[in-house]
Amino acid sequence: MQIQQVTKNIVQEIWQKRPLIISGPCSAETEQQVLETATRLAKTGKVNMLRAGIWKPRTRPGNFEGIGTKGLPWLQKAKAMTGLPVAVEVATGKQVEDALHFDVDVLWVGARTTVNPFSVQDVADALRGVDVPVLIKNPIHPDLELWTGAVERIAKIGIKQIGLIHRGFSSYGNTEYRNAPMWHLAIEMKRRNPELLFINDPSHICGRRDILKDVAQKAIDLDYDGLMIESHIDPDHAWSDASQQVTPERLAEMLNEIIWRKEDIGSEELHAALEKLRQQINHLDDEIIYLLSQRMNIAEKIAVYKKSNNITILQTNRWNEILERAAKKSEQFSLSKEFIIKYLDAVHMESINHQTKVFNS
Ligand code: PEP
Ligand code: MN
Repeated sequence: MQIQQVTKNIVQEIWQKRPLIISGPCSAETEQQVLETATRLAKTGKVNMLRAGIWKPRTRPGNFEGIGTKGLPWLQKAKAMTGLPVAVEVATGKQVEDALHFDVDVLWVGARTTVNPFSVQDVADALRGVDVPVLIKNPIHPDLELWTGAVERIAKIGIKQIGLIHRGFSSYGNTEYRNAPMWHLAIEMKRRNPELLFINDPSHICGRRDILKDVAQKAIDLDYDGLMIESHIDPDHAWSDASQQVTPERLAEMLNEIIWRKEDIGSEELHAALEKLRQQINHLDDEIIYLLSQRMNIAEKIAVYKKSNNITILQTNRWNEILERAAKKSEQFSLSKEFIIKYLDAVHMESINHQTKVFNS
């Protein structure tokens, strides 16, 4: 069998591995750095695939923009030394051709590329007739349609093995994260694409190493198929993303500390116990929906009074009163204030819509 076929089979096998762990430096910097990172990662026995950025799309110019094509033979060498297949980010058709020329096994589309349908199409066109797995990162901003569009463009030209990487979404201003995880969006994307591999990238979500493990654990608890975590032999001196990278050894420790949970363990006893509790949840959900419809009926009655007396739908004082009451109640019933406010906001908007219908009738 030809060497390329052998690696293809290995990649096929690795694609099925759970959890699938991809690690390596944000950027390939020097041959020595790539080879040493790969060797130390392989030595942990916990990593299935080596990643390295060759072309780096930086938000601001002047930062290290990647070593370029010259780094690709280093990855080839790293693969030969460790047996780890390699993954590289591509943003243009030319980069796809170069990466494939140097036997890169898996390609990924970065967050700054997923946002641009022209770039994604350029990448897709270069992949016509090629059998290579492609991972697609979420776009920088919280938009599932762009993410879906990128998947469609890559699928349409015939790529069979497609995976998604959730790397968080940029939000203006300072938060705990570099890119807010917005887990609800990732959960929705996973729900829409149950057949796609689903990887979490705690490194770009966190932007710092101290909370990496918590985010990785959360991803595992949400049934992700694997993790992509950046690692570097000398994280503090990395040429890009220094504050979020960890040494291969620290990565191994972290992977040891994570509790690996599965979606199911196939136990009848467990299924029966869960089923009983889930019935209760269904019952409560039905009741909540019924109560909400009752609430809207009352809102419509109020709207009749407002309309005939020519007063506005929105009564800010009343809305404040509702929020204050709920904030107090939420404490009493150990619900977070943040949740209750979001929930009431949605209820209030629905109520306004019902009242508007009455006003327009
Ligand atoms: C990266 O993986 O190094 C990278 C640039 O990621 P993202 O596209 O998620 O910003
Ligand atoms: Mn990076």
